[in-house]
Amino acid sequence: MRIARTTAEIRRQLKPLRSRQTIAFVPTMGCLHAGHMSLIEKAGKLADIVVVSIYVNPLQFAAGEDLDAYPRTFDKDATLCRNAGVDFLFHPATLYPKNGPTITLKATQLSDCLCGASRPGHFDGVITVVNILFNMIQPDFAIFGEKDWQQLAIIRRMVEDLQMPVEIVGSDIIREADGLAMSSRNRYLSDADRKQALALYQALRAMQQSALAGEKHVKTLKSVAQNILDAADIRPEYLDIRCAHSLTTKRMLNEQPARAFIAARVGKARLIDNMPLAFNTTPEPASCTEDSR
Ligand code: AMP
Repeated sequence: MRIARTTAEIRRQLKPLRSRQTIAFVPTMGCLHAGHMSLIEKAGKLADIVVVSIYVNPLQFAAGEDLDAYPRTFDKDATLCRNAGVDFLFHPATLYPKNGPTITLKATQLSDCLCGASRPGHFDGVITVVNILFNMIQPDFAIFGEKDWQQLAIIRRMVEDLQMPVEIVGSDIIREADGLAMSSRNRYLSDADRKQALALYQALRAMQQSALAGEKHVKTLKSVAQNILDAADIRPEYLDIRCAHSLTTKRMLNEQPARAFIAARVGKARLIDNMPLAFNTTPEPASCTEDSR
């Protein structure tokens, strides 16, 4: 595995390979866990060369957020990447001019709801850095986790709107054995926080099961989740069910794919998670009676 720390270096390393081999790219902020590793594994199946970047992008953190506290574990991450067969690891000190970027990208849709509502400018920071990284790496494929569903939706739209020659590939959410979505920020959780945090998964799962059982009213589904969050003493930043692609709100589940989203602060961590909700047209009967057998 080769490690590059500057734009010139990664460009020089990839240039001779580009015409003969395909490149799959996995952008990360490091502190790698099994979620990241699943993206890397997918990248290896899609293309000849796997490039991973590790860069804690200051542009996507607002003042007062955890930019300085964000865990940086480069040596361990590099070992994980090497063992996973990553070909190139890009770890720049910075990607911006000294006085900050003059030109940035702005998402005019999809970015003002869910995480965008409480983190104004966050997704503009994300798409600006992803655009810079795409220009450097020029990947054929880029893999992003469904854990950050809104980010994935915005990046898909960026690639479409700006006609970028890269295929965006989404990848399943990887969870701990009990269901908590893996996140670099889980390491902010104390033991007690960790137990409390499980309610996010349980609330999403309860909505998913209710939808599967035939419940179609968003209000009812949300109240099922709210009860679980209340019992765990979690006040969500948002608890929402939206159209999976347009991210518009819904009152009823229908044939259009829907997704449930939760964000909440647990201890020092701000956690997010989401799950698809099935639209079940033929709900199972609640129970089997003697007569119906
Ligand atoms: P981050 O390092 O948090 O910026 O994440 C880098 C990439 O890993 C993003 O595409 C995330 O969506 C993805 N990712 C983070 N956590 C998970 C997870 N638990 N399962 C799958 N992908 C994840």
